[in-house]
Amino acid sequence: MPGFERFGDQERQEVQDVLDNGVLMRYGFDGMRNGHWKAKSLEEALQQTFNVKHAQLVSSGTAAVSVALAAAGVGAGDEVIMPTFTFVASFEAITMLGAIPVLVDIDDTLTLDPKAVEAAITPKTKAVMVVQMCGSMGDMNALKTVCDKHNLLLVEDACQAIGGTYNGKALGSIGDLGCFSFDFVKTVTCGEGGAVITNTTEYYTHADHYSDHGHDHVGNDRGAETHPFLGYNFRISELHAAVGLAQIKRLSEFLAVQKKNYTTLRTALADIPEVTFRTVPEGGEESYAFLNFFLPDLESARKASKGFKEAGVDVCFHYYDNNWHYVRKWDHLKDVKSLYPVSPAIKEGLKTLSNKTFTQSDHYIARNISALIKLSWTEEEVAARAAKMVEVIKASI
Ligand SMILES: *Cc1c(COP(=O)(O)O)cnc(C)c1O
Repeated sequence: MPGFERFGDQERQEVQDVLDNGVLMRYGFDGMRNGHWKAKSLEEALQQTFNVKHAQLVSSGTAAVSVALAAAGVGAGDEVIMPTFTFVASFEAITMLGAIPVLVDIDDTLTLDPKAVEAAITPKTKAVMVVQMCGSMGDMNALKTVCDKHNLLLVEDACQAIGGTYNGKALGSIGDLGCFSFDFVKTVTCGEGGAVITNTTEYYTHADHYSDHGHDHVGNDRGAETHPFLGYNFRISELHAAVGLAQIKRLSEFLAVQKKNYTTLRTALADIPEVTFRTVPEGGEESYAFLNFFLPDLESARKASKGFKEAGVDVCFHYYDNNWHYVRKWDHLKDVKSLYPVSPAIKEGLKTLSNKTFTQSDHYIARNISALIKLSWTEEEVAARAAKMVEVIKASI
C-alpha cells in the first residue's frame, strides 16, 4: 500500500519546482509561482481520476472527514452512524464538530451492516459514514437505499481504498461526499494530506472556504476576500501537494502492483480449506491494498498472528487485539477521556457505548487477518511470503 515505497524522480521533480519558486503556500503569490499550482493541479487530477465535479485538498484524511461533514451541515448534537471497525480518525472527525458517533456492527464486508445501520437510525441521525476498510467496500446499493429512504447523507471514508471501484464508479465518488487520506502509509501519499470529493457544488464551496478560515477565494487579494461563514485552517501546503501530484499520476501503476502481489498471496491461501475471504459486494473491485481473510476462530487467528511475527512475516494485522482500529480497545472513547470539557450531548450519546457488546463485529474481527500488500516486494519475496504464510496458517488451525 504505501506509495512512499516507490518515491522517485517524479516526486523529486514536483517538489523541486516548488522549492525553485519558493511559494510553499497553495493560495496567493500568483506572480512568484512561475505557473506552478501544485495543490490546484492535484485537485484537477483527482477530479479526472475519480470522475467527480469537485475535489478539495486538506491537511489530512481526518480533516477531510471532518470538513466533509461540516460542509454538509453536520454539527452539534447530530448523530453520525459509523462502523465498529475503522481507524480512530472516524470518531475524532465526528466529535470535533460536536456531533455524536453512533457505532454499529459490521458484516462480512468488514464495514457497515446495512441492517444494523437501519436499526440505529433515530430522529437525530444526520449522516451515515461508510468506511471502505482495507481496500474494499460495503454494500453500497443497500447503504444508499437506507440513506435515501431516511433522507440521510452518505459519507464515504475511502482513505484505505483509493482506486477501488463499485459498479464502475470510484470508491469515494458514490456517497454524497468522499474522503481520501494521503498520509505517509497510504497508497497515494503527500507525506500528510487528504481530500474531499463531491459532485455537489454547494458542499465543495463550503469545503473550500471552511478549510481556509472561511476565505471566499474571490479575486487575487487574500486580504480583501470576505468570510461568508466561520472556518478553520485545514490547508495543505504546496510542498505536500507536489508529492501527491506525482503520486496520483502513478496510481494505476501502484494498483497493478497491488493486484499482482495480492493475487499471489490469495491463490496460495485459497488452497487451505479452513481459510475464507472477506465478501466483496457484487459489482465491487478491491484496490488490493490488503488481503483480508478469516480463520476458523479467535484462537487460530491469535496463533497465526504470533506465528507470522515469529516467521518474519510482517504487516499482517489481527485487529481484534489492536489498539487503533477496533472498538474493543477504544477505552478513551468509551470513557470520554478528553483533555477539555466535552459537550453534554456527546457525553450522553457515548454513555451506552461503555457496556455495549458487538457480538456480530467480534465474530468477524476476532477471526480476521488483514495482510497489507506492499509495492516494493519482488516476485521472489511475494512467493516466499506466500509459502511462509501457508505454513504458519496450517500450524495454527
Ligand atoms: C488513515 C485513515 C484516516 C485518517 O487519515 P490521516 O491522513 O492519517 O488523518 C481516516 N480513515 C481511515 C479509514 C484511515 O485509514
